[in-house]
Parts: sequence; C-alpha cells; structure tokens
Amino acid sequence: MSLLEFKNVSFRYEGEEGQILPLALDDVNITIEKGEFVAIIGHNGSGKSTLSKLANAMLYPTQGKVYVNGLDTCVEDNELAIRTSVGVVLQNPDNQIVATIVEEDVAFGPENLGVPQRELRSRVDNALKSVGMYEYKDHEPHKLSGGQKQRVAIAGVIAMQTECIVLDEPTAMLDPVGRKEVMNTIKKLNKELGISVIFITHFMEEVTQADRVIVIDSGRVLFDSTPTEVFKQAEKLNKIGLDVPQTAKLAAALRNKGVEIPNDVMTPEAFVESFIKLSGGKVK
Ligand code: ADP
Ligand code: MG
Repeated sequence: MSLLEFKNVSFRYEGEEGQILPLALDDVNITIEKGEFVAIIGHNGSGKSTLSKLANAMLYPTQGKVYVNGLDTCVEDNELAIRTSVGVVLQNPDNQIVATIVEEDVAFGPENLGVPQRELRSRVDNALKSVGMYEYKDHEPHKLSGGQKQRVAIAGVIAMQTECIVLDEPTAMLDPVGRKEVMNTIKKLNKELGISVIFITHFMEEVTQADRVIVIDSGRVLFDSTPTEVFKQAEKLNKIGLDVPQTAKLAAALRNKGVEIPNDVMTPEAFVESFIKLSGGKVK
C-alpha cells in the first residue's frame, strides 16, 4: 500500500453565483511511497497548491479519490489518521499562524493530534531548533519576517512527526542562506528520519535534490520522472514557462560545442567533478 495516492483526481473550485470555473486539477494520478523525496513544479495557477491541500483532507476531490495509507480522505472518520500521517506547510505562512507566541503556534498541530503535554515540550523545542528559530520561541509570530514565519510553520509540521510532509514553496520568501538552511533541514528529515517529502518549488536548483520530479501544467501531470530525465526536456519545459537549472544549461551549451559532459550533470558539484575528469584529473 502506498503512503499517498491520487487516483484520477479532478478538482474544481466553486465560483461565485453559480459561475462554473475551469478544473484546477484534471485527472491527476500520483503515487508517493514511504521515504520518497518528490519535487513538484509548474507555473503559477497550474494547480500545485490545490494538490497540496487535497493531500491531507483540507480539500476533497470533485472526482476521483485521494488515499493516505489506503484511507479515503473523503471519509470523515479518517481525518485524524490522515492528519497524523500527512502534514502540510501552506504557501502563505500567515494563513497558518494560529497563536500569539511562536512556541504555542508550533505546539498547536501536535496538540490537536493528541500528543501528551510531557512530550510536547521536547517536540516543540527540537522542531524550533531544527529550523534555527529556537531563540524566537517567546516572540510574536506576526512580527516576524516572511522567512521566519515560514520556518515557524515548518517547525509546526515537523513537531507533528508525520510520515509525510508537503511543503508548498517553503523557500519562496527566504534569502539564499535561509533557503539553504530550510533545504538542509528538509533533506535531513528525509534522509535521517525517512520522512516522505513532497516539495513544491519554483527554484530549479532545489529540484535537482529530489529523487523524483512531477511537472504540473494546467492541472495535469505532464512529467513524472527523475530530475535528469525531466530536465532533458528543456524545450517542452520552456514552452510551459519553466526553466532548467543554470548548471544543466551550461553543461548543455558545452555539449553542443562537442565537450563531453554527461547529460545528467545538473549541479555545480557534478559539473566540477566531470570537469576534473575531462582534464585528466590534473587540475591545480
Ligand atoms: P498554483 O499553486 O500552481 O499556483 P493553485 O492550486 O493555487 O495553483 O490554483 C490552481 C487554479 O485554481 C488557478 O486557476 C487558481 O486561480 C484557481 N484557484 C485557486 N484557489 C482558488 C479559490 N479559492 N477559488 C477559486 N479558484 C481558485
Ligand atoms: Mg501555489
């Protein structure tokens, strides 16, 4: 049984005064297994945030089914089990702030899942430390910067200790240093704790860190493969307003000139390695 399964899922928001809106998701089939690190990309309005909300019963499919560990998200009695398994960090952290003090905000999610008080303290402290926000635990979340609020929201989901975390553009409001910190935290959750990660982003460099990437276009799944395979489709990606990582572009440009750089080179680290190999290892 898969951790998360979207089976022929379509979703339509309700328009005002009976207006029929186009489908936000259109016959989506996605399966996520335990321990996977999956990136989701797609231009604005393609349906990524809708998908994240369907993953833990914040929204319900108009057609098709979403299953979490085999449990149908439409069945009300499944809600607690589903929220215990899948945590979602929303795109806008302001929508997720519920308390007036940071540590209370982080405690809110696990408290709702019924985590006992004696365990709550250590969960909250550890979650805040892992996102570098421990020293802000007594602050008011509303007064934090966008990036800090985002990290508090991530801590809130980490503290729930779900098997799967969905993060909707968690690094969009961060500076490059903050982005790296959050990325490292998420990678650690995945690699060390085996938590499945579904990572929605528009930074192509971050996508190269994932095991798998799903490309959404106008509510449909366009690609579902490894980053290497997906970024080979530079032209198709450009057509739907997406880019490939800078390093992949540089490598492709060199390949076009006859330089033998393998076509799975997408990160600066891999680029350096293949460059050294090409130079016969004689780089000083
Ligand atoms: P993304 O996260 O990829 O930018 P969304 O899932 O937010 O895309 O939106 C998908 C589509 O649904 C867009 O056309 C968007 O305008 C529409 N949409 C999103 N939220 C609502 C809503 N609450 N009511 C009506 N339409 C919505
Ligand atoms: Mg979105």
